[in-house]
Amino acid sequence: MTKPVFRFAPSPNGRLHLGHAYSALLNDELARRFGGRLLLRIEDIDIARCRPEFETAIYEDLAWLGLRWEEPVRRQSEHFEDYRAAFLTLRRRGAVYPCFCSRKEVASAVACREVKPGRPWPRDPDGAPLYPGTCRDLPSGEIERRIAAGEPHSWRLDMGALRALLPGPYGYRRFDREGREEAVAADPWRWGDAVVVRKDVPTSYHLSVVVDDALQGVTHVVRGQDLEAATDLHVLLQAILGLPTPLYHHHGLLRDPEGDKLAKSRRSQSLAELRAEGLTPQAIRQRLGFAGQPTPST
Ligand code: GLU
Repeated sequence: MTKPVFRFAPSPNGRLHLGHAYSALLNDELARRFGGRLLLRIEDIDIARCRPEFETAIYEDLAWLGLRWEEPVRRQSEHFEDYRAAFLTLRRRGAVYPCFCSRKEVASAVACREVKPGRPWPRDPDGAPLYPGTCRDLPSGEIERRIAAGEPHSWRLDMGALRALLPGPYGYRRFDREGREEAVAADPWRWGDAVVVRKDVPTSYHLSVVVDDALQGVTHVVRGQDLEAATDLHVLLQAILGLPTPLYHHHGLLRDPEGDKLAKSRRSQSLAELRAEGLTPQAIRQRLGFAGQPTPST
């Protein structure tokens, strides 16, 4: 029997906060409980926002918490060729089309449509308007000309084509802390024609995460509930790319006193700041509901 494989996959675009600590400690606890391995993956495709000092801080903060992980650490920025290969598969399968729209153009196309029928335009689970399909059926000559002219473009999933090609139904298995599993239905279509290759980066979070989880043999994904809806899209990508679907556990999010989830963008107090205030790793573990001392690895 092969060992279960878990991973913690932070992005080095800010300092880690207690929410990250919770996710990392839960991965560690479940990996130990299920006799598995723990990997660390640095999700740094966003070259403009990720910084080497934040990556160094991730290693420091996690080691300070008492975590250990396998080396070498996979850094996404070193593997763009893997995401490119997956993109070419999507393209070969007719699953994507290029989109030349700017954010502003998408917003104004949606605004026009919203005004006309007098009802709100549908949103994806992240709250963004579904793509209205402006570039979906461009003539191939025009596509080639615009790409050859160097016009910036992203690549979107063609959900209409995919519904016909791979109608589903979709789902995955979720597991709890005791290892009980149950089936969950997934609805990838609610994402609309989601971007899978961005204009500024030759991949996207969704594409790289499914490629990496498969390449690293991840069997158990433990991450926050804020990514639960994204799993619906991930199972569709796995189906198109012929990749296995891991088991998933989406844990509750830590919130600040105002009820907002902790986030780097909201400048939630970082682990480094808590450390500077004199908090010990044991205190943090206890505060987050984990045993005070790291259990020795077996
Ligand atoms: N890199 C993502 C984040 O920092 C996590 C992705 C995942 O666990 O699938 O929120």
